[in-house]
Amino acid sequence: MPTYDFRCVNCGERFSRRVPIEERDKVRCPQCGSKAQQLLTGFIYFGKSDGGGSGSCSRSSCSGCSGC
Ligand SMILES: [Zn+2]
Repeated sequence: MPTYDFRCVNCGERFSRRVPIEERDKVRCPQCGSKAQQLLTGFIYFGKSDGGGSGSCSRSSCSGCSGC
């Protein structure tokens, strides 16, 4: 069973979950229970330094991150 990374659409909590592929849409945030959105690992969605990050690394892993 593959592991997918998710991010809560409500509170932004990130977590990994092993779920069948057909249940990815049913994953809920462990923190607040809201709908979670699958993160596409391998696709980093931060544009070029648009000032979004305020110091803390927003990525789940710092490998390849030049900011922290
Ligand atoms: Zn949440």
